[in-house]
Amino acid sequence: MNYKLLGRTGLRVSAIGFGASPLGNEFGAIEPLEGERAVHAAVDAGINYFDVSPYYGRTLAEQRLGAALAGRRQNVVLGTKCGRYDTDTFDFSPARVRSSVHESLRRLRTDYLDILLAHDIEYAHREQIIGETIPAMLELQREGKVRSVGISGLPLRLLADVAERGSVDLVLSYCHYNLLLRDLDQILTPIMERLQIGLINASPLHMGLLTAGGAPSWHPAPQQVKDVGAQVVKLCESRGAEPATVALRFCLAHPYVSSTLVGISNRQQLEENLRALDTKPDRELLAQIETLVALVAGMTWVSGRKENSDV
Ligand code: NAD
Repeated sequence: MNYKLLGRTGLRVSAIGFGASPLGNEFGAIEPLEGERAVHAAVDAGINYFDVSPYYGRTLAEQRLGAALAGRRQNVVLGTKCGRYDTDTFDFSPARVRSSVHESLRRLRTDYLDILLAHDIEYAHREQIIGETIPAMLELQREGKVRSVGISGLPLRLLADVAERGSVDLVLSYCHYNLLLRDLDQILTPIMERLQIGLINASPLHMGLLTAGGAPSWHPAPQQVKDVGAQVVKLCESRGAEPATVALRFCLAHPYVSSTLVGISNRQQLEENLRALDTKPDRELLAQIETLVALVAGMTWVSGRKENSDV
């Protein structure tokens, strides 16, 4: 496993991070014991970064991750979030940030978080995030409950603006840098580099779309993107390549991102994803993928409040 410093946080995170949203059954019900074994195997393989949220499975993912990490907490960089609690339930107020962190600490069976992110900030008023939410998170940092603070969400211009005007250590972006979409580097990465803010790239499989199982029913991508994703999967398979391994390998080559967060449900997925670390990129296959993906270049979707949207 390779490790990189996360901006100026002092945290060293593994190139592959463990996305724990599947532990909350976000992509369909998982076998809980198998999920726990995947967490243990990930730690054994050197994955040290784990990302979760009270939103995933409406606290179920935090409960399961906390139980799975019992006895291993000191070996990992543990991050959770605040502000989002259900599909349409958001509260980014300072009081809720504080109560949320205390609840997460209990569920995660720890007394500090390495990373706290405001979750899906496009659903909030951006001035509240800058003027109230981040200051409340920084207060928890001063109290030692949290080591680093940041933001997550979909619209890149919003993340860039809040990172420039707020005081954050890291930003988590998703579905903007993978085989299907690459606009992260046009909009967000240069600002992160200039400010030395840590950058996490999540959803290398475009939230399941670049897997044989395909997109979950709630996937918000336009149908054209889903269709091209399915074609990319078929193309990889026809060349004897595992789609998830190809997709993750592509993301791991990013020069500034510190960790690529992939959602993991079981040990088989973990093993396939770990293989991306030693796989050489197949240039011919990537060129063919480029041709397919050109049909849906730059296609994303609306998330959150209209005024926060990039599209
Ligand atoms: P992803 O692109 O990582 O895809 C996850 C899906 O692919 C799951 O169904 C998983 O079981 C499956 N999968 C993983 N490896 C596989 C393999 N080798 N073969 C077949 N299927 C495989 O999407 P994601 O889970 O949404 O993103 C990763 C993590 O990043 C999340 O779990 C979460 O922790 C984080 N994230 C955060 C935000 C946010 O803060 N707003 C948004 C998206 C993701």
